[in-house]
Amino acid sequence: MSLGADLAQRIAAAGPITVADFMETALLHPTKGYYTTRDPLGAAGDFTTAPEISQMFGELMGLSLAQAWLDQGAPPDFVLAELGPGRGTLMADALRAAGRVPGFAEAARVVLVEVSPALRARQKDALAGMDVAWVDHVDALPAGPLFLLANEFFDALPVRQFQRAGAGWRERCVGLEGDRLRFGWSPVGPQATLAHRLEDTAEGDIVETCALAAGVVARIGAQIAAEGGAAVIIDYGDWRSQGDTLQALRAHSPVDPLAAPGSADLTAHVDFEALARASAPAAHSRLTPQGVFLERLGITDRARALAANLAGAALDSHIAAHRRLTHPEEMGNLFKVLGIYPPAAAPPPGLLP
Ligand code: SAH
Repeated sequence: MSLGADLAQRIAAAGPITVADFMETALLHPTKGYYTTRDPLGAAGDFTTAPEISQMFGELMGLSLAQAWLDQGAPPDFVLAELGPGRGTLMADALRAAGRVPGFAEAARVVLVEVSPALRARQKDALAGMDVAWVDHVDALPAGPLFLLANEFFDALPVRQFQRAGAGWRERCVGLEGDRLRFGWSPVGPQATLAHRLEDTAEGDIVETCALAAGVVARIGAQIAAEGGAAVIIDYGDWRSQGDTLQALRAHSPVDPLAAPGSADLTAHVDFEALARASAPAAHSRLTPQGVFLERLGITDRARALAANLAGAALDSHIAAHRRLTHPEEMGNLFKVLGIYPPAAAPPPGLLP
């Protein structure tokens, strides 16, 4: 039975489900979920991410963390973690670059937070020969100073969607029309987490919340504030959620999110204000456009150095990759960077307090 038919059966029996329940089932169902069953990345897949576009992305993220590690006195035993590592490319590039900082690789205990068996297998290949551990959730991260990377992880976490109705909200849900899945709205009681959104919304406006993201960042922030470390989080989104951003992608094109659950990627924009709030008692950086972050870390010098050994089509594609990562009309502005660090420390390089 398809996952869509499973969901229809569940809704027929127990009533409409929230958008978050729908997203979680579509992405992570143990045998029919989108991430659990495939490697979705790359030209032949459904979407491409920054580390798959150029090695420069992971190298610079790794060097930013390695400098933050040096700035905090180079703790001799620390956790180097990544959330949702995809094919493992980002961690491999980060470790290759940061491994040139004396002592860094020896002190690092690499832990990957990944639920997908299909992607764990890819990560194992990409990091072959290295000592790597996997956990399902940040709650299982080992103690110690925590240096952490996350690219396009938070956009995969399930969001709830609310629409302003008078002085309160109604919630978008997935119900049935005949045997087909369909969006609708349900009345809900007061939402404490949305109190601050009564100020900046008007009747009919839609806002999104992600309880899982807030929980993950609270866990990371607590460890970084208590034991040292830093997190560099990159994703698309903005300071405050803006409207309905739920999107389904298959083969690099938008599709109806309800049409064939489990067969398309589902994402929502990240509300960085909510992540920043959840990171306390750690400090957080200013939200910084990806292009600005990478330029501050010297991506153009790195691009020139790599270009010196390239010619023809390889050189053209390298130049296009640099533009794609940094240009404001490509990924440079849509994607944002948030740093999390101990209140007494400086933010990771590339970011400002
Ligand atoms: N960071 C990678 C991949 C992004 S795709 C890159 O930039 O290329 C999202 C990743 O998050 C995948 O590895 C997916 O399996 C993982 N993921 C999604 N939801 C998750 C969850 N709830 N817990 C842990 N990992 C999750």
